[in-house]
Amino acid sequence: METLTQVEPLTDSWGREIKSVRVSVTDKCNFRCTYCMPAEGLEWLARAEVLSFEEIARLVAVLARLGVDEVRLTGGEPLVRRDLPVLVRMLADTPGARDLSLTTNGVLLDRLAQPLVDAGLRRINVSLDSLDHVRFAELTRRDALDKVLRGLEEAERHPELRPIKVNCVAIKGFTEDDVPRLAALARRKPYVVRFIEFMPLDADEGWRDDQVLTGREIRALIEAEHGPLVELPAKASSTAKRFGFADGNGEVGFVSPVSEPFCSTCDRIRLTADGQLRTCLFSRREWDLKTPLRAGASDEELTALLRTAVAHKELKHRINEPGFVRASRSMSQIGG
Ligand code: SF4
Repeated sequence: METLTQVEPLTDSWGREIKSVRVSVTDKCNFRCTYCMPAEGLEWLARAEVLSFEEIARLVAVLARLGVDEVRLTGGEPLVRRDLPVLVRMLADTPGARDLSLTTNGVLLDRLAQPLVDAGLRRINVSLDSLDHVRFAELTRRDALDKVLRGLEEAERHPELRPIKVNCVAIKGFTEDDVPRLAALARRKPYVVRFIEFMPLDADEGWRDDQVLTGREIRALIEAEHGPLVELPAKASSTAKRFGFADGNGEVGFVSPVSEPFCSTCDRIRLTADGQLRTCLFSRREWDLKTPLRAGASDEELTALLRTAVAHKELKHRINEPGFVRASRSMSQIGG
């Protein structure tokens, strides 16, 4: 592998070094989760607007030279993008792109786990909000729980693909009944189950703060069933607080951006499927990378644009502040 000449890292004006990029490869999805998009879906991007694999790989290579070595592929649902393993291979071969992961709803995973692993994927996050068929269908508007569980089992068969994280979006008045079963899944299976607080990124704009089931509340539900949890060490920039069970069997995590924001250690930026850079999930401003890219910009010019964008990275989200203004895109158009 070609050695990588490191240059000045990508640092924002608050002193945070950017290490992680989430790359949305499509805005399309085969689910219709109520906390994300309307039943009828959204107006999808025109094909010509979506970055090609070569364009994504070029931007990831430029970012890798700036020390951004964690790449997570997201959507919409990334596995609906045709030939995704081809892109995974291109990114796995990119000098400096050390850590390649993917977030999926898992419904196509039983078919694609093998080619993704062969292409170089090493970590995976699978969204799973309920283990109850009726509730799963109610939330995702798809009767697909069994297929998602088969996808997870297929992922298990590949020891290179670790950790396998299961992400559950927690909604008050809905998820409480699922918490003990999902926690038990973390004890029964080689999955790290993480509970993510519901964020105001739904396309319907129906989010209310009284729908947030907080990390602390979920932890209390788990401890009521399984006894005290033990906090585990986590990377400073990690979005999740990690906990183990007292007997050492199983791990759960809490991603609590609303009740316990973690913006002070944020090292993330996002690239949308149509080539816009977002320096925060809740950005109201984007930086167009696609136009200069397609106009023949050099790596130096792209680097300068990335530095300018990151210098304007938001300090934090303002969800809990009066006058909070929602992000300029909904979750499926950003990619989480
Ligand atoms: S809300 Fe923005 S600043 Fe805060 S952790 Fe998320 S991306 Fe980072």
